[in-house]
Amino acid sequence: MIDICLLGTYGMMPMPNRWLSCALVRCGASLTLFDCGEGTQVPWKSLGWGFRQLGAICFTHMHADHVAGLPGVLFMVAHAERTEPLDIYGPPGTAYVVEGLCRIAADLPFPLHIHELKSGEQFELPGELHGSCIAASHGVPCLAYRVELERKPLFQPEQAQALGLPVQLWSRLQHGETVQHNGQAVSPAQVLGPPRRGISLAFITDTRPTTALSQFARDVDLLVCESTYDDPEDLPLARAHAHMLAEEAAALAQAAGAHTLILTHFSPKISDVSIAERTARRIFTNTRSGRDGMVVTLEYSKV
Ligand SMILES: [Zn+2]
Ligand SMILES: [Zn+2]
Repeated sequence: MIDICLLGTYGMMPMPNRWLSCALVRCGASLTLFDCGEGTQVPWKSLGWGFRQLGAICFTHMHADHVAGLPGVLFMVAHAERTEPLDIYGPPGTAYVVEGLCRIAADLPFPLHIHELKSGEQFELPGELHGSCIAASHGVPCLAYRVELERKPLFQPEQAQALGLPVQLWSRLQHGETVQHNGQAVSPAQVLGPPRRGISLAFITDTRPTTALSQFARDVDLLVCESTYDDPEDLPLARAHAHMLAEEAAALAQAAGAHTLILTHFSPKISDVSIAERTARRIFTNTRSGRDGMVVTLEYSKV
């Protein structure tokens, strides 16, 4: 199971009662934060998930509305007495910006490990989540992220019995280990069922839509995607600033075969996010506009 909280859903600047676009992902007790605009620690504190378990931060890019909240969040994590390392991921240029921001968040009780990612790279996130990234199209180095939680195949006791395997060996096979029995190697594949669908989500913000992005988000359970503008007449603006319209986010979700779309990163000029939702639903029905503090839970499918 994965919980996702959209701590903020707006772009460019925080406003009264409106926080900047970011997502906090919880799997088990572990937390991963995607982007960290100014003031991110404020809605996070209200959420009540705590700060100590923050194991990783993934930055899409180095614009202020996505990174300027880092010192405040690091302070809260330090205040929660974390001592384990915190991994920071982002595109090339991340180390320069993060090291600069850390000059005003010095003497942290935990080490920061900064990883600059290339498009297509894969990496491990806390809570046994698997991360991957691809270049977005925003005029500056910018990454879209995908997160997956695998689901282990079911153990087939009748197959283990048919092979004459003693029960003591079952759990080792269940955990992926090859065992020896009567001088023969028995592999997990011989006693495990077919692969099962895991859980996946993608976080795509500050970009024009691209074919590569829709392929990257293929078949995700949840796509959190930017929708800076809600009016189709703003297409020239969207192109000029390398952002998306609500209907472009919907088309991307449809091309990806995503199961659910949540819109985020709304322009400060948008006061009613339900317009973006209605516009997007004409193209991709299962769309919701994100709201600050919204929590979505993704569970393994029943089959
Ligand atoms: Zn932005
Ligand atoms: Zn940006």
